[in-house]
Amino acid sequence: MNPVEVKTHPDFDEHESVVFSSSETLTAIIAIHSSELGPAAGGCRMYPYASHEQALTDVLRLSRGMTYKSALAGVPFGGGKSVIMGDPRTAKTRQLLHEMGDFIESLKGQYMAAEDSGTSVADIAAMGERTRFISGVSGGRFGGDPSPLTAYGVFIGIREAVRHRTQADLPGISVAIQGVGNVGYHLTNLLICAGARVTVADISRQNLEWVSKIPGVNVVPADEILSAEVDVLAPCAMGGAINENSIYSIRAGIVAGAANNQLISKEMADELLYRGILYAPDYVINAGGIIDVYYQNCGERSEDIVNKHIERIGPTLNTIFTSSDSRRLSTQAVADEMADKILNRVHHQAA
Ligand code: NAD
Repeated sequence: MNPVEVKTHPDFDEHESVVFSSSETLTAIIAIHSSELGPAAGGCRMYPYASHEQALTDVLRLSRGMTYKSALAGVPFGGGKSVIMGDPRTAKTRQLLHEMGDFIESLKGQYMAAEDSGTSVADIAAMGERTRFISGVSGGRFGGDPSPLTAYGVFIGIREAVRHRTQADLPGISVAIQGVGNVGYHLTNLLICAGARVTVADISRQNLEWVSKIPGVNVVPADEILSAEVDVLAPCAMGGAINENSIYSIRAGIVAGAANNQLISKEMADELLYRGILYAPDYVINAGGIIDVYYQNCGERSEDIVNKHIERIGPTLNTIFTSSDSRRLSTQAVADEMADKILNRVHHQAA
């Protein structure tokens, strides 16, 4: 794929740089959307993309989301993301992870990687044998897996959405979680402890076995979860869960989950508004992980400081919901507008 094709891509959105690496072992892309607020930070995803085009679309959309996520979460990071093309179950080797580390190192700190779908904390640690620019790795100065704190932020966001919509609290509220991997598992635990009724689905038998050990969890087949009759639908698997096919079958009054790029397109945000479904914009509600990554790197990490920062997701969502209600504008459009304002202000201060 050449630079012209990148610049004319519908999701290009003025990315600062998009870099490709291709060898016999590794095919990967690092996208840096913006470094306006600080060095670009974002996960490194490994996925069996069907084409370079599909990988490019994913990395461009994800890195833009990281810019907006950090802006609204109030952390001094820019937006970036990386993707490795390949099946994480079969194609992941030490050599590949080392080459990815070299690739990240070649950008000299413009981009910092953490774990994401298809990569584990151990994988990022292996990349860290070749680069300093990683985060979210167990032990030592790097801290640990951000997923539990992402789940905590989603939990705060679900509670805020429920309060906004029903004036009720979580006990007795029903939640359907699509995907009980790193984030979905911890979210299930938090919701059950808070007295919610939780239904889950996953395509991984192993992850279902794991989550089923939490008392009270109800499991349904994966193709039934999006249309479950519940108060809240929490997409916590891959992007695009809310699309032209699924949107008309959603019976929940609230969509609030961890997955990045939950909406297949911007039109879905308007359709959710039209259908009276309250949507918590993904990059707002799932910011717990990046907030944790920030504190892992600035050296002031304490449970209290990190939790308090993550709890600010609640008031931010409340502002978005209230503005959306009064202006009849989708919550996604309101969030984008708020993030753009922050980015423009910083841009003008720097100019
Ligand atoms: P994960 O890979 O650990 O978990 C995803 C789970 O979804 C897996 O168990 C997988 O089997 C399941 N799944 C995939 N397709 C499914 C389907 N069609 N139906 C049901 N289940 C399905 O990933 P994760 O780290 O838990 O992240 C989940 C989502 O949250 C991703 O979109 C990720 O980008 C986003 N996110 C994660 C973090 C984090 O800290 N891990 C931070 C922000 C956003």
